[in-house]
Amino acid sequence: MTENSKKHVDSCRFCWMCRHICPIGNATGLERNTARARALGLSLVNRGTFVLADVIDNVYECACCGACTKECVTGWDPVMFTKEARLDAAMEGVLPESIEKLIDSCLETGNAYGLTEVDASFKEAAAAHAAKKDILLFLGVDAIYKVPKASVNAMKVLEKAGVSFSVLEKEPPSGQQLEYLISAANETKEQMIACAASLNEFQKVVVFDPQDAKVFKREYKEWGVEIKAEVVTFTAYLAELLEKGALTAADSGLSVVYQDPFQLSRDLGETSEARSVISAFAACNEMLCHGKDTMWAGNLLMKEWMPDVILRVAADRIQNAKSVGADTIVTASVSEYASLKAVAQREVKILSLEELILGI
Ligand code: SF4
Ligand code: SF4
Repeated sequence: MTENSKKHVDSCRFCWMCRHICPIGNATGLERNTARARALGLSLVNRGTFVLADVIDNVYECACCGACTKECVTGWDPVMFTKEARLDAAMEGVLPESIEKLIDSCLETGNAYGLTEVDASFKEAAAAHAAKKDILLFLGVDAIYKVPKASVNAMKVLEKAGVSFSVLEKEPPSGQQLEYLISAANETKEQMIACAASLNEFQKVVVFDPQDAKVFKREYKEWGVEIKAEVVTFTAYLAELLEKGALTAADSGLSVVYQDPFQLSRDLGETSEARSVISAFAACNEMLCHGKDTMWAGNLLMKEWMPDVILRVAADRIQNAKSVGADTIVTASVSEYASLKAVAQREVKILSLEELILGI
């Protein structure tokens, strides 16, 4: 572990000030799922009391959502040392078996789920945008393989706004899943370099999934992977289309709350764009923990190894919406959308931004 990460591990005061904000810790109620406990475990590894293999399962029980980092009163960064511990585990060969399998799938198929076949609805919609245009709609592995209707709806929204765009027949992985699983490993960077080469064929890349947008705009830059094309988030692009009048506002009569994806609000500092789009179609209200203080609502990748916890994380976020009297949550993250939809309940409607715009 680098001296900087060791400093962050050892400087954690175990003060608990970040405890209440951890979506995993809140869902499990277990002390081991807090940033504080993870720092304590890694501190014991650094001191030679434990080996990394003793605490590695715990290192993968973190969403790397950054809520604790934002909340840390003393300015320490639990995400930084968690990601570094993952990279160390990969290099030491002590990754959990479940994580090894997901990494192998990422390398073999480009997605952690090991999927190679796409849904017919996606295939048909994408085929209509196979021709090369200046703008690329980058959909991401979750939308392509796990929630194809989200891909189709994203295309419909851009069609509605009269945008001429391409969708790649075989979209390369952005590297976001490997970045989450093993951080700055060579394999991650190789995926990113290959992806950047594809993106650079276009003038502008509209990124549908906030998980991809985060790595394109942050890790690619940090690791010297150059994207020459202009990269814009789907939400920011929709706000721009609305402002230009290409996308027409239509009041749905709904009153909704917006679930900020942490990748947009905390990592990229984007909070107003989605709200301006939502406000053109519904009354946009706020729930507990929003904007940069957002509470993560689960994802599809972590569901692979902790499905029950992810279901509870999503159920907790629905409870947050209920507590302010909201009956509709609008999401801008395909992964959070799928997580929230997986909760068996009828009181709060879960809508994607695309569904709101299309009136579905
Ligand atoms: S990054 Fe998120 S999931 Fe991980 S410890 Fe911090 S608050 Fe919890
Ligand atoms: S990460 Fe920061 S806020 Fe959380 S327990 Fe450590 S010192 Fe306290």
